[in-house]
Amino acid sequence: PQVCTGLARNASVKVYVRTRPMLGGEEHQGATNILAVSSQYKKVVVEDGTEKKFTFDDVFEEHCSQDEVYMRAVEPLVTKVEENENATVFAYGQTGSGKTFTMGTSPCFAQDKNPSATQGDLTNTARSLTISIMEVYNETVYDLLAPSRIPLKTKAGPGGAVSVVGVQEEIVNSVEEGLLLLKKGSHLRSVGATAGNQHSSRSHAIIYLILKLVDLAGAEGVGRTQMSGRQFTEGVNINKGLLALSKVLAALSNPTAGYVPYRESVLTRLLKDSLGGNSHTAMIACVSPANFNVHETIKTLHYAEQAR
Ligand code: ADP
Ligand code: MG
Repeated sequence: PQVCTGLARNASVKVYVRTRPMLGGEEHQGATNILAVSSQYKKVVVEDGTEKKFTFDDVFEEHCSQDEVYMRAVEPLVTKVEENENATVFAYGQTGSGKTFTMGTSPCFAQDKNPSATQGDLTNTARSLTISIMEVYNETVYDLLAPSRIPLKTKAGPGGAVSVVGVQEEIVNSVEEGLLLLKKGSHLRSVGATAGNQHSSRSHAIIYLILKLVDLAGAEGVGRTQMSGRQFTEGVNINKGLLALSKVLAALSNPTAGYVPYRESVLTRLLKDSLGGNSHTAMIACVSPANFNVHETIKTLHYAEQAR
């Protein structure tokens, strides 16, 4: 039998699913809704003829507001942070499924001159706050608050965790200041068009508050969308991070696994302290309700269910 080596386990991983509404373009193309979502039973059923059922810690149906997602998935973690524990929130899913919208880093919020209380909620609970925003792009870390785009060096610490050297840390005194920094960071983020989504993010963004919010890159397979050479490299690196993340989550939720493979990607090395040990993680899997995304949707739901 395998011996549990006492390696740090995650105190808790909670897995949520959020379905976004059908987009105008999808309706225009005659898409049908293949997801039945029950907040009461915390289940998502894929009604594609196979009736696959998936169960989660909570599910958010298409009309759930940002406030509600915050209240149910994020606020419990803020409480943990106030008790000096670590917490990470990350959004997972295919391009166009609603990750950036959910994390509040979408340009439509960043450009909003009168940010709603919804967006402020992510920051207004903590009294003094430091924000760093960086992105992992092709396995390289960039500071999104720095005046110029220079790759940052990472420094290996004990046990394979890495820290980023010289990353800008901004002190935030108000919700408005926080939103301004988010706007600045989102603006500098690398974007590239894919067949899936014109404004698709081609990078993982990491926003360090006391809470860490992670907006992952699209989870779809490299083969599915048509990609140029550069985009192919990006796709391979994005998948490297996501594959490593799935292995790390699987190892953390399996009490008999002796070894957690953080070292396999930059993303998992950066997140080591926030995923393992005395930390709390909320994964919000985002899915599209459209029938023509059913393949990626089922993959996302499987991935998320296994992370619990
Ligand atoms: P991703 O980051 O996963 O690629 P986005 O967050 O950019 O996806 O979302 C794709 C599109 O869907 C955007 O136009 C966004 O405004 C819209 N969208 C996503 N989630 C929601 C939601 N819950 N309610 C309304 N619109 C949404
Ligand atoms: Mg995005």
